[in-house]
Amino acid sequence: MKNPDIRNRKLFVPRMPSEAARAFAAAFRSVGIDAAETPQSDSKTLEIGAKFTHGDECLPQKVTMGDFFSVLNNGLAPHEVAFFMPIAPGPCRFGQYAPLFDKTFKDLGYNDIMIISPTSMTGYNELGEHGEEFIRTGWRALVTAELLSKLLHKIRPLELEIGSSDVIFEKHLNVICSILEQKIDQDDKMKKLVSALTSARDEFRKIKINTSIITPFIGIVGEIFCRLNSFSNQETVKEIERQGGMVWMSDITEWVRYAMAERKYQLIQDGKRWSKEMLSFLIKNYILMKDEHDLTKPLKEDLHLFEEPKNFDEILKLAEPYLPFGKISGEMVVSIGRACYLQKKGVDGIIDISPFTCMNGIVSEAIYPRLSKEHNNIPIKVFYFDGVPLDLERDIGIFLELARSYRKKKKNTL
Ligand code: SF4
Repeated sequence: MKNPDIRNRKLFVPRMPSEAARAFAAAFRSVGIDAAETPQSDSKTLEIGAKFTHGDECLPQKVTMGDFFSVLNNGLAPHEVAFFMPIAPGPCRFGQYAPLFDKTFKDLGYNDIMIISPTSMTGYNELGEHGEEFIRTGWRALVTAELLSKLLHKIRPLELEIGSSDVIFEKHLNVICSILEQKIDQDDKMKKLVSALTSARDEFRKIKINTSIITPFIGIVGEIFCRLNSFSNQETVKEIERQGGMVWMSDITEWVRYAMAERKYQLIQDGKRWSKEMLSFLIKNYILMKDEHDLTKPLKEDLHLFEEPKNFDEILKLAEPYLPFGKISGEMVVSIGRACYLQKKGVDGIIDISPFTCMNGIVSEAIYPRLSKEHNNIPIKVFYFDGVPLDLERDIGIFLELARSYRKKKKNTL
């Protein structure tokens, strides 16, 4: 194990989204690493974040910076904490987040803070001998949290008793986290997770809903942190629901799938199509996809509206006429492919949530008018966030009107 002291620290995972961070932290605990999600952001988060950034950084950097500092302000000493910050290669500023945190903390004299950015490139050394085991539990954590939040997004806009779905969601998320953190055999863990998801499904089915409401169905794409971190996007999902819409959020696992597609492409580019590395990659990929299939099974019927593609290549193929994978990389490829997929699946409008000045958002925005024209004129709008509140009530209201009128005239009404 390369970094032995991680086991003497508490690891904080950014909320993207909150439920996935909680489940992911539970997965860390299953391999003996104390972990939790970062504290809930508030107005102080941006104040602190702004103090230690220069203005060129993207909003996610500012928010996570503020959140990490609030951990330190809450009484934990630098040598007692570690922060989880994924990294990504490529031109996007995302790859700079972890080194910038490191530099900022060191400049302030916090030399003892540990930033962990585990990647397949380093063989997950940071996680010690349990790296591979963690990858599997971590994946299950993300998939399970997403399935649960899809149930929530399906029922909450229709619930008769306000707040009832949130209560069920919270209860079952706690159960799921308590299973994920157990140090038990992976087969037993899978059985328990499937049973917990089945119970959650049954309780969601019992929630009394208004079946006479016609909800515009809104797909959400965009930059991963801003769209999944509800503080950064001013609780866009809740605002859409408050105004009568139902949301299909593009999940965090989509990013993992994209990273896998990039890895495979890179191996091929490096002449390793028929190599041990490719074989090992394909086996791991198969195991993760099989886990996802087993977890999704009990909810298939309930979540038929939110049917995900069987193979991520479908998303890349749909993006091809606009941003061909292999020639262009980055989240914009996923946003574009996903927008096409969502339209095909019958959503009534697509919202792209991105941080202000995000290059992925800017490129996608330039493509959306053509994409909309070639997809039945579906309404698509980019909502940019920079920490200054938008008039979301007004903007969502206008967008939902467009979505309602698209719904009336579209050919593939659900
Ligand atoms: S995706 Fe956008 S917001 Fe995220 S790091 Fe890249 S440029 Fe910044």
